[in-house]
Amino acid sequence: MTTDGAAPYPKIELHVHLEGAVSPELLLAAARRNGFALPVGTPEELRAFMRFRDFDHFIESWFATTPALQTEQDYRELVLDYARRAQQRGAVYLEAIFSPTDKLTAGIDLETVFEGFCAGVQQAREELGIEVRLTPDITRGVDLDVAERTARLAVAHRDRGVVALGLGGAEAQFPPEPYAPAFAIAREGGIGSVPHAGETAGPASIRGALETLHADRIRHGVRAVEDPGLVRELADRGMVLDVCVLSNVCLSVTDSVANHPLPQLLAAGVPVTVNTDDPTFFDCELDDEHAAARSLGADPKGLFEAGIAGALCEPELKQRLRDVAAAHRWG
Ligand SMILES: [Zn+2]
Repeated sequence: MTTDGAAPYPKIELHVHLEGAVSPELLLAAARRNGFALPVGTPEELRAFMRFRDFDHFIESWFATTPALQTEQDYRELVLDYARRAQQRGAVYLEAIFSPTDKLTAGIDLETVFEGFCAGVQQAREELGIEVRLTPDITRGVDLDVAERTARLAVAHRDRGVVALGLGGAEAQFPPEPYAPAFAIAREGGIGSVPHAGETAGPASIRGALETLHADRIRHGVRAVEDPGLVRELADRGMVLDVCVLSNVCLSVTDSVANHPLPQLLAAGVPVTVNTDDPTFFDCELDDEHAAARSLGADPKGLFEAGIAGALCEPELKQRLRDVAAAHRWG
């Protein structure tokens, strides 16, 4: 069956921020353990508080809640909790983002963050049987030496599930070029490059990500449609875009699902995956995002195949994903 129902079809998700996927229950437990004061006290209130209203509230609610996550245990549980929710909706493989450099201001060292998230990868495999890989983001605006340290740590955790280095945060304010040395460290260390680009900035940002960061995939990339030549280039190169339709609507990258540029990208032959981005804040789970993408003409099998093409895991795991696709009756 291709429609989601009692038995969801297989899905690959490549663009989810684990801090943005935290459940209210997990957040409350972490806040209690860490002595962090949350603005409200029950899961229901917290869910309502975190739900997207407008950009300013998004930033306010992010910084009022996610800093409660501070310890290895918190990060490990974050991986497990989201992996469980995604798996219930059909996910068989996740490439998940975390933002280690954001935690430095709270005095949490990068090693603790990596240790916790990598432990979560192992626990998700052992307890749930789902494969999660990690792509830590450098937050734009951090010192370049912090960016390079993050890249070195990402490489050092390669055998514990880290498959690529990302770049997130204020895209319009911080172009990709200065981060080239950090991404060179990642590349030389054998991991991939998955920067955000083409979300709040246009085609120049995507070209910068391709040319100076040697992107293996582009997170978002939807504003490529402003430059037809770039769209053709993405299609010719088979460059996978990790699109997040509902996030794009919340953050006003587009004004509605109906006007989202996904159909243009699909028509041009650009391989596209669909993803939740920050599911707790945007009040969407993986099946909601898929429903939105299907309403725009995306087909589940094509999304899965783009997911395999874009996945940066080891070849053996990619083959297992191909086997999943071959065994499923897509209808
Ligand atoms: Zn993102």
